[in-house]
Amino acid sequence: MDFDLFVIGGGSAGVRCARIAAGHGARVGIAEQRFWGGTCVNIGCVPKKFMVMAAEYGAAAEDARGFGWNIAKGAHDWGVLLAAKDTEIARLNGIYVRLLEQAGAKIYDAHASFIDPHTLDVGGERVTAERIVIATGGHPVRPEIPGAELAIVSDDAFYLEKMPKTVAIIGGGYIGVEFAGIFNGLGAQTHLIYRQPLPLRGFDEDLRLGLAEAMSENGIILHPDTVPKSITTPDGVIRCLTLSDMSVLDVELVFFATGRVPNLHGLNLEVTGVETGKDGAIKVDERLATTVPHIYAIGDVTDRLNLTPVATAEGHAVADSLFGGNPRTVSLENVPTAVFSIPPIGTVGLTEAQAAHRGEAKIFLARFTPMRHNISGRVRKTLMKLIVDAQTDVVLGAHMLGEDAPEIMQGLSIAINCGATKADFDRTIGIHPSAAEEFVTLRTQTRMVGEET
Ligand SMILES: Cc1cc2nc3c(=O)[nH]c(=O)nc-3n(C[C@H](O)[C@H](O)[C@H](O)COP(=O)(O)OP(=O)(O)OC[C@H]3O[C@@H](n4cnc5c(N)ncnc54)[C@H](O)[C@@H]3O)c2cc1C
Repeated sequence: MDFDLFVIGGGSAGVRCARIAAGHGARVGIAEQRFWGGTCVNIGCVPKKFMVMAAEYGAAAEDARGFGWNIAKGAHDWGVLLAAKDTEIARLNGIYVRLLEQAGAKIYDAHASFIDPHTLDVGGERVTAERIVIATGGHPVRPEIPGAELAIVSDDAFYLEKMPKTVAIIGGGYIGVEFAGIFNGLGAQTHLIYRQPLPLRGFDEDLRLGLAEAMSENGIILHPDTVPKSITTPDGVIRCLTLSDMSVLDVELVFFATGRVPNLHGLNLEVTGVETGKDGAIKVDERLATTVPHIYAIGDVTDRLNLTPVATAEGHAVADSLFGGNPRTVSLENVPTAVFSIPPIGTVGLTEAQAAHRGEAKIFLARFTPMRHNISGRVRKTLMKLIVDAQTDVVLGAHMLGEDAPEIMQGLSIAINCGATKADFDRTIGIHPSAAEEFVTLRTQTRMVGEET
């Protein structure tokens, strides 16, 4: 065999797996068909966060006036933002390649596909490997409506030649609400269209409601309980988007943020016997092995919890298990997550609805104007919530909508993963003046939920 391990896909999951396995002394090859670092670095988390930061500056300039700064907001230059983003991403691409080379992995800038369960075609070269890891990620999908090809998806949003003046985003998931904040913050009239009564299905209801209110307050035009019917472009420029209430929106850009499916295109997976489930997600066991024991799958291609830190943790665990003498699995419980909406969300653990389904839970909720906006004059509320097991006092979930929520939630997730109780939170002394201190001073129970209530 040419390699002990061959990794298909140079995204978050694949690069970590290849690098760690090579570091353990394995002979490793890795193929990437498009860009090193994959979705997160090139068309996901990283450029998205730069764009959110860009969008926030406009509002920051307005807020500063209340503090005595006479700052004119001025115009935003989309070209400058994109060029700065591209320069930074090129730097990150280089770091990923160097990390792999330094670890001793052999790099292929090529598409890989299966010839048989141990043999791959990598850019026309035939290579064999004892073990193979599939880390090919996912891609966005468009709804099947007439004119769908006239809309963009998130992959395209990072390369737009100019900022649209009007945009309609379809989809109330995290990508939809994040881009609504970006386009709105950069000055576009922004519509957000979603099927549910509230955005962010699966998140805690108070967060969903709080975010919908905040987005509305920011000027985003919300269209709940609505789906797109068709898109036409009579003059080749303006898109006429017909909605399920038969209203028509005329906008420059329609953006589908309507979900993602695993990338299996051209992989020739059929020759391996690896089984897939819904939407082509590769089925894995707790060791991330597929139904073919020497083939593993990690990251978004398994479509379980599609987050970069999960993908890297899985890549690391497979490498340690196979070549580091340290067999281990990755728990997907209490994984903290953020939504970089404006304002952002940070969340970990159970939602109120999940906790109520499980048993009796105490809810502690605070909603307040953050210190900054008492002076800036901006109408914006921060929301903080703890969900506590009524029997054991263990904190089951923490949720926040408000500035710095993702930064605050990373620390709280450690406490929650350690099984902290509400009494532990209460005896912790706060940092003053901060928003975070509210999490250790939530004294009054807001309500009780669960089977007994
Ligand atoms: C707009 C957006 C924003 C996001 N924001 C966040 C965020 O804020 N936080 C967060 O944690 N997660 C975020 N994510 C999710 C995150 O990007 C993914 O969970 C993560 O990138 C998954 O890593 P992966 O390695 O599984 O797949 P990917 O990063 O997609 O990597 C797969 C790689 O495999 C390559 N490939 C595919 N097929 C082949 C083949 N046959 N041969 C060779 N190469 C192949 C692809 O080119 C790709 O580079 C975001 C995603 C999107 C789309």
